[in-house]
Amino acid sequence: MNVATQSPVLPVYARQDLTLVRGEGTTLYDADGRAYLDFLAGIAVVGLGHCHPAPLAAAHAQLDRLWHVSNLYWTEPMVELAQRLSARAGGARAFFCNSGAEAVEAGLKYARKATGKPGVVALSGSFHGRTMGALSVTGQSGKREAFEPLLAHVQFADPNDAGSLEAAVTSETGCILLEPVQGEGGVHVLEASFVAAARRLADETGAVLLFDEVQTGVGRTGAFFAHEHVGVRPDALMLAKGLANGLPIGCLLVSDDAAEGFAPGDHASTFGGNPVTCAAASAVCDELTDEFLATVTTNGVVLAAGLAALPGIREVRGAGLMLGAELDRPAADVVSACAERGLLVGTAVADVLRLTPPLIVTTTEIEHALGVLEEVLA
Ligand code: PLP
Repeated sequence: MNVATQSPVLPVYARQDLTLVRGEGTTLYDADGRAYLDFLAGIAVVGLGHCHPAPLAAAHAQLDRLWHVSNLYWTEPMVELAQRLSARAGGARAFFCNSGAEAVEAGLKYARKATGKPGVVALSGSFHGRTMGALSVTGQSGKREAFEPLLAHVQFADPNDAGSLEAAVTSETGCILLEPVQGEGGVHVLEASFVAAARRLADETGAVLLFDEVQTGVGRTGAFFAHEHVGVRPDALMLAKGLANGLPIGCLLVSDDAAEGFAPGDHASTFGGNPVTCAAASAVCDELTDEFLATVTTNGVVLAAGLAALPGIREVRGAGLMLGAELDRPAADVVSACAERGLLVGTAVADVLRLTPPLIVTTTEIEHALGVLEEVLA
């Protein structure tokens, strides 16, 4: 059943003709009761699977206790989540908001305030969100053009080209902004040597090294933060998508080692640090044990190897369960054909199929998804 026809909703999305009403684990159901194996997870959001009992119980309990107070006061769930994230980051302080783009805005403001310098160096092909600041630092001209002029003083360097980065960074650069694995730009992994070069340039110029872990964070790549794979610590990072398993949240996490930046009055969000959302997010953090993360890595290897063996796939890229398969045909056609067969997958750019299943996915489900993809791609 499609409830969307003629609906009073602005047409900013190219939605599929599918209305989903219920989810459980890795499975989604439409109104007719048809089941879909979800290999998109709300685009790398529902890491623990739909309606996972731990964040569900935490959110339920908090809904019965307290929904909202102003950030003029403290709440226990907000502080407890900040403590968990700080411990994971090796000492950091958190600002909470409601989405990835908002977290990026907070990061850009933090870098400006901490350094006093206006310049931002981001990467070609990057994606940081659709608000005016986040769009300004998104390295995809097609997304920016209709909204220019945007923020000034933004330069784009080429990913995995340290020379290009070095040429873009100047004494006026206040922020070097990277996604450890570019998501929307086609699933491209940044090399450890390139990320290390960014760290060195930030140290030399006094810029803030800012990692956008909105998509890569919270276990998606097999580590809590994707930057753990390359052993380079940022001065600050952003989280959002997977943090509360589907409840809206964003977070800027500033390392204890970074320069002081924000003072009272510099930034705010009415709903940021919402107690219900933070309680769910703490439950998510508690589920992401080393053992759990090791399974994400193992299953990611199984899925990547299976994809690489399929017809029509030119290259498989990514880390953990954040994978992109570059195709010899438009990815949108494959997405539709998979949905008809009960498998939900996504696209990154036009010819890249994106697979970001819930992190709890089993090898049996991976085999099933590969079987559907083989049938569609044959
Ligand atoms: N940053 C990255 C790396 C993203 O992938 C996204 C969304 O896809 C965003 C920022 C923006 O997040 P949101 O859609 O929650 O504003």
